[in-house]
Amino acid sequence: MLPKTVHSPSPERPCLAGKAGEVLPVDIAGTKAIKAAVPITCAETLPLIDAAGRACASPIVSTIDLPPFDNSAMDGYAVRLRDFSEPGPWGLPVVARIPAGQPATSSYPAGCTVRIFTGAPVPQGFDAVVMQEHCERSGDMATFSLKPPAGQNIRRAGEDVSKGAAVVAAGEPLTPARIALLAAIGTATVEVRRKIRIGLISTGSELVEPGEPLGPGQIYNSNRFFLRAALDRPWIETVDFGIVADDPEAIRTMVSEAARSCDVVITTGGVSAGEEDHMMDVLKRENAELEVLKVAMRPGKPVTVGRIGSALFFGLPGNPYATAATFARMALPAIKRTAGFQNLSASWMPAVSGFTYRRKQGRTEYVPVTWSRRNADGLPIVEMLGRGSSASLSPLAMARATAVLPPDLADIEPGMTLRLEPVCE
Ligand code: AMP
Ligand code: MG
Repeated sequence: MLPKTVHSPSPERPCLAGKAGEVLPVDIAGTKAIKAAVPITCAETLPLIDAAGRACASPIVSTIDLPPFDNSAMDGYAVRLRDFSEPGPWGLPVVARIPAGQPATSSYPAGCTVRIFTGAPVPQGFDAVVMQEHCERSGDMATFSLKPPAGQNIRRAGEDVSKGAAVVAAGEPLTPARIALLAAIGTATVEVRRKIRIGLISTGSELVEPGEPLGPGQIYNSNRFFLRAALDRPWIETVDFGIVADDPEAIRTMVSEAARSCDVVITTGGVSAGEEDHMMDVLKRENAELEVLKVAMRPGKPVTVGRIGSALFFGLPGNPYATAATFARMALPAIKRTAGFQNLSASWMPAVSGFTYRRKQGRTEYVPVTWSRRNADGLPIVEMLGRGSSASLSPLAMARATAVLPPDLADIEPGMTLRLEPVCE
C-alpha cells in the first residue's frame, strides 16, 4: 500500500501528487484518482422495479431454467419426426390445441399433430414445430409437404439461462436489460450498493444563481447546473451546498462540513495559484491527502484530487469547459468506483478528422466535435467546434462528442484517425 503522508504541495515537501505539484499525464492522474476512491460496502435490498441503474451488490444466480420449459417459437403445429418416415406429403390428425399459458398433457396418441401457439409448452416427445404458413389445414387434418429438421421452432428449456448460472455479477450496473433478465428468472428483490452522497460546492464571489438579477461583475453559476445534471443518476444522492464566496474561512467551513457528511466532495473554482484561489490553503488546513494537483490536459490543468478524512475530494477548475472535462475524465471513474461499480472506463469510438488544427503538443486535449458525414467505412468525419477555450460553453453544448488528442500528437489534418469519447458518459 502507498503511504498517505501528503498534505499540500510545497517546494520543500514533495508529495504523491508530484514534486511540488508536478503536472501528471492524464492516465497517471486518472489512475491515482481511482486508487484514492474507496468503494462503499453498505448494501440495501430493493424491489427489482426500484433497482434500475444501481450497482449490484452480490452475484445473482438463477434458480430456474430460462425458458422454464420447451416452448414453441411460432404459431403452428407440433410434430414427431418419426411420423415423417414414409414419403410425403404427410397428413396427420390435429388432436389438441395448446395456447400459451396452458400446460401440455403428457400423452397424445401416435401419428398425430397438435395445434400450438408461440410461447406454449411443446408436449413431450414432439420434436419440431411447423409454422402454420407451411401446412395445409382442412377440418381436423393438417398436411405437411416438407419434413422439418429436428428441433425446428422449439425454444429449449434453459437455452437462455440454465439453472445455477450466474446472471449478474457484483459491481455491474442494473441496466434495463439486466433488470428484465432478473425479472425473467423470477427475482423480486435485489441487493444493491447504497447510494453515495456527493456534496457539491460552487466557489466564486462573482457567482449568482439563474433567476437572480445579474449585477456588475457577476456571472451565472453554470458549473453547479452542469454537475447537478451530470450527477443526476439513480446511485447518487447529491447534497448541494450552493455558492460560497472567495473567502477562505467560509470555504473551509463548507468543505469541512461536506467532507464530514458526504462520501465525495466536489468543488469548482479557486484551485489555481492566484491570490483569490483559496482551495489549496483550505485543503492544507483540513489535512487533505492530495494525490493529484495538476494534470497535463487541456482544458483543465489545475485539478485537485485527494481525500479529506473519509471523503474523496475533487477540486475542479472554475472555467466551465474545464469543469466538464475534469469531471468526466478525472472525477467520474473514481466516483463510480466509490459507488461500487467494476467497469470504470468510458466508451469510445473511432472517427476521422474533417478539420485542420495546429496544436501545441504536451497535453491531452479534449476538443468538442460534431459530424454530419461519414466516410466509406462508416466512420464519422468530425468537425471541431470552437477554438477549445476552457471558458466557452457553447461548443460543448453543440458537441456530439469529444475528440481526444494525445499529448504527442502533431497537427491535426483531414483524414487522420481520431478517438471520440462522450462529452460526459
Ligand atoms: P477559477 O477557477 O475560480 O479561477 O475560475 C475560473 C473562471 O471560471 C473564472 O472566469 C470564473 O468566473 C469562472 N467560474 C468559476 N466558477 C464558475 C461557475 N460555477 N460557473 C460559471 N463560471 C465559473
Ligand atoms: Mg475564482
